[in-house]
Amino acid sequence: RGRLQYSLIHSAGSESGKKMSNIAVCARFRPLSTKERRDDGDSICIQCLDSDTFTFKDEKEGNSTFTFDRVFYENSEQAQVYDFLALPIVQDAVKYTNGTIITYGQTGAGKTYSMEGPGILESDDQKKGLLPRVVDGIFECIKSSKNANKYSVKLSMVEIYMERVRDLFDLAKDNIQIMENKSQGILLNGITEVSIKDPGEALQSLASGVANRAVGETQMNITSSRSHCVYIFTLQQELKKDNRSRTSKLVLVDLAGSEKVEKSGAEGRVLEEAKSINKSLSALGNVINALTSGSSVKANHIPYRDSKLTRILQDALGGNSRTALLCCCSPCPSNAPESLSTLRFGARASHIKASPRVKCNEDKSAKKHGTPPSPDKDESCERI
Ligand code: ADP
Ligand code: MG
Repeated sequence: RGRLQYSLIHSAGSESGKKMSNIAVCARFRPLSTKERRDDGDSICIQCLDSDTFTFKDEKEGNSTFTFDRVFYENSEQAQVYDFLALPIVQDAVKYTNGTIITYGQTGAGKTYSMEGPGILESDDQKKGLLPRVVDGIFECIKSSKNANKYSVKLSMVEIYMERVRDLFDLAKDNIQIMENKSQGILLNGITEVSIKDPGEALQSLASGVANRAVGETQMNITSSRSHCVYIFTLQQELKKDNRSRTSKLVLVDLAGSEKVEKSGAEGRVLEEAKSINKSLSALGNVINALTSGSSVKANHIPYRDSKLTRILQDALGGNSRTALLCCCSPCPSNAPESLSTLRFGARASHIKASPRVKCNEDKSAKKHGTPPSPDKDESCERI
């Protein structure tokens, strides 16, 4: 494999990038952990070139250069991630554009830290994650809108484990069915929707959902790294004219760990979990690829139905929507294979519509054979 540069053009507004502008893909490298420093020393496998490009060094595969819409290095601040990735989506959600913000990566890569922060109720402003910032952002945007008093905000939280959807506000609802309705789109049948009036209420609800998640997982003897957590904000505005309302959904997803399970070693539930995670992450990759590939893909050919995750995200990912994908990675060389797989997932998710330019000399063969790599030959999406 030569050195590929996936050159992505985050081209809001440009003709060729019309669809492309609906998805922003960023990479984030967390600091080395104490354990990584102890076991592997201080070396890291990335070399920053600028705010959107870095070289990734892998012992086996050599060097690859990746370009994303933005790269957040080890010393990046939570606020920077929010401002670049989430704020535009929050602003648009208040103007009736559905939005999705997804954290992807192996277990321990920083997905939950990015999403929730050290805790939902974290008081240190610097450390606050995307969720509390999104909550603040929603209410600020509503406040500064013309029809501030016409808005209502509702929150639901579900966990998807082994293709079963559980209501995190009511653990008794442990097998929520997904329905589709012409006027309202995707519905989670019987799900708890908490009305929230201010950021404080939202944070309390989110914290109770997170606590319930831990309780449920202890009962089932599983860990959160094996399930997807989905936070759904529904924004509704009453319209004066004819008693109708307008609704948008803003969905945040903290995905299950994307790491591969050793095929030979896994058995029983571990293997079943791995298959189920693999299925939903492949489905997510395929849906994003179908959406970003633009040209001839009709809505009914986008494979939302291939997993519960993509089904739930159907309206938030397709059509009138914006998506941000944060690819979380460890910078430690011992995690390089998983990081590379995460980065490739991100690159595929965004490069297709943007027609990647292969810049490095070593990649002449790839150019000749018409790279970019096909989404169908996606290593991290291979089924086990
Ligand atoms: P994941 O959810 O992907 O499994 P976590 O978000 O739980 O991973 O992160 C693993 C560990 O790394 C946690 O202890 C977390 O606090 C820490 N961590 C992750 N990202 C950062 C960061 N950007 N800055 C500081 N610590 C981080
Ligand atoms: Mg996590």
